[in-house]
Amino acid sequence: MESSVTQVLIVGAGPTGLVLALWLRRCGVDLRIIDKASGPGETSRAIAVQARTLEFYRQLGIVDDVLAAGIRVERLAVRTPSGVAATLKLGDFGAGLSRYPFAFALPQDIHERILVRHLEKAGVAVERRAELMSFEQDAAAVTATVVKDGASEVIRAAYLCGADGASSTVRHGLKLGFPGGTYEQSFYVADVEVEGVIARDGLNVCLDTHGFAIVLPVRQSGSVRLIGIVPAENAAEEKITFETIRVEVERITGVAVKAVNWFSTYRLHHRVAERFRVGRVFIAGDAGHIHSPAGGQGMNTGIGDAVNLGWKLAAVLGRRADARLIDSYEPERIAFARRLVASTDRAFRVLTSRSVLAGLWRRYLMPRTIALLVATPAGARFAFRTVSQIGITYRDAAISRGGAGRVRGGDRLPYVEALSGDNFAPLSSLDWQVHVYGAASPAFRAALAPTGIPVHAFPFTPAAAEAGLSRDAAYLLRPDGHVAVAVEAQDPAPLLRYIEAFAIEPGASVT
Ligand SMILES: Cc1cc2nc3c(=O)[nH]c(=O)nc-3n(C[C@H](O)[C@H](O)[C@H](O)COP(=O)(O)OP(=O)(O)OC[C@H]3O[C@@H](n4cnc5c(N)ncnc54)[C@H](O)[C@@H]3O)c2cc1C
Repeated sequence: MESSVTQVLIVGAGPTGLVLALWLRRCGVDLRIIDKASGPGETSRAIAVQARTLEFYRQLGIVDDVLAAGIRVERLAVRTPSGVAATLKLGDFGAGLSRYPFAFALPQDIHERILVRHLEKAGVAVERRAELMSFEQDAAAVTATVVKDGASEVIRAAYLCGADGASSTVRHGLKLGFPGGTYEQSFYVADVEVEGVIARDGLNVCLDTHGFAIVLPVRQSGSVRLIGIVPAENAAEEKITFETIRVEVERITGVAVKAVNWFSTYRLHHRVAERFRVGRVFIAGDAGHIHSPAGGQGMNTGIGDAVNLGWKLAAVLGRRADARLIDSYEPERIAFARRLVASTDRAFRVLTSRSVLAGLWRRYLMPRTIALLVATPAGARFAFRTVSQIGITYRDAAISRGGAGRVRGGDRLPYVEALSGDNFAPLSSLDWQVHVYGAASPAFRAALAPTGIPVHAFPFTPAAAEAGLSRDAAYLLRPDGHVAVAVEAQDPAPLLRYIEAFAIEPGASVT
């Protein structure tokens, strides 16, 4: 039996595992990534790529390729059985909040292929037909048994990351519970060619007293995605094809389906694993949390897990931070996953409830609520903040400190555009940095100089004030763009204490 050693073994090459591998590789970590499947996924599955994910992709230097492959969702059309109730311009509905203030659609298969290509460019190939069978850990490392093309190999790694999807072998191996539930309804997902009155460049939400459906452009070739609930009368049937539900789908969406490129039904769950980490073993993505796709959050949350874990593992493995930093992965991400699963559960129940009252609300009041939300600037900003994941904060985390202006330790750095660029540009170093909005005093710069952490000063503009930043305050930023420490009076002491406490050294060896 072969035996080998690596720093990190990633199990699963879906979006979560691929992004984790990309981040670690950019920071010079030695890793292996295995997947039991013979190739990347062939179906579109998750399509919404949220602004927060695009911000991470900019840090990784892959955002332009991702944007070029997908479609901007320009419009939101709300349809009821009486016809189109409202057509609203989405456009840049989050203007000023992110460099990517729009809704964006990219089928998961194309998305994964872009990630694989960039990983290959960085010198890492996904090892296919390689299945994790079992693992054990001791104080120094994890020992994993992998079967690749029929041959067994023992891999010893400092850390093992299970990004191996909803039926995770790693989660089972850790004997972690996956509490939650399974909805009685089944979802259908189809990529189809259609004729009919729909917003071709937009998200079509179709509401009626019986249920709901979504029509969304997916491929640049012109095909669209249909998502909805399998009608109650068909739910018990053993084999559901598109023809089984065609009449209901065409009734609720108002389109005529000319060709079906892909069709699938699946049961939905809402579950969060009991733990995201046991010793040297982590789980991330669908292995740790699954929920309804309404809202397009699932894959993006897995990618967020990957980034959170990636920078912490890279810092600790590079001996540029205390190992306690890794302890924050589970509390930061499990708290977000639990909130997300609870909120998508509530939204899903409203959307799918068969009660008469909920049906009437969905059919008559919901179109107006959506229209009000998107048609006013404040409503549009609220909607953008809610879905784009830019509002994720780790304020309660043990590694978040202080506050300045409206920005507290743990918040994502607010995005600010300036004439000479924007304040997210330096984040592509994937490293610690200090931001000052106003003037960084020579004394402050001199106090920080021995740490080697760069101080970036940006003009204090009306946009910076509106974003909640405070003039001349100092913000120590983590490599993922979240605020570690914020201080009002440009007092270096709290920053220096933090840097010392976590033994932070800059210098992620970005490759
Ligand atoms: C039909 C369908 C439609 C969906 N639609 C949406 C949607 O519209 N919106 C949305 O947000 N989400 C949707 N999802 C969910 C979305 O696809 C997932 O959230 C996303 O794929 C999670 O990524 P992941 O990398 O965590 O896991 P996965 O993509 O599941 O990847 C896990 C990988 O691990 C590999 N693996 C598993 N076990 C092992 C092992 N023991 N050894 C080696 N490799 C292993 C698997 O082969 C797989 O490639 C959909 C899912 C399905 C199935």
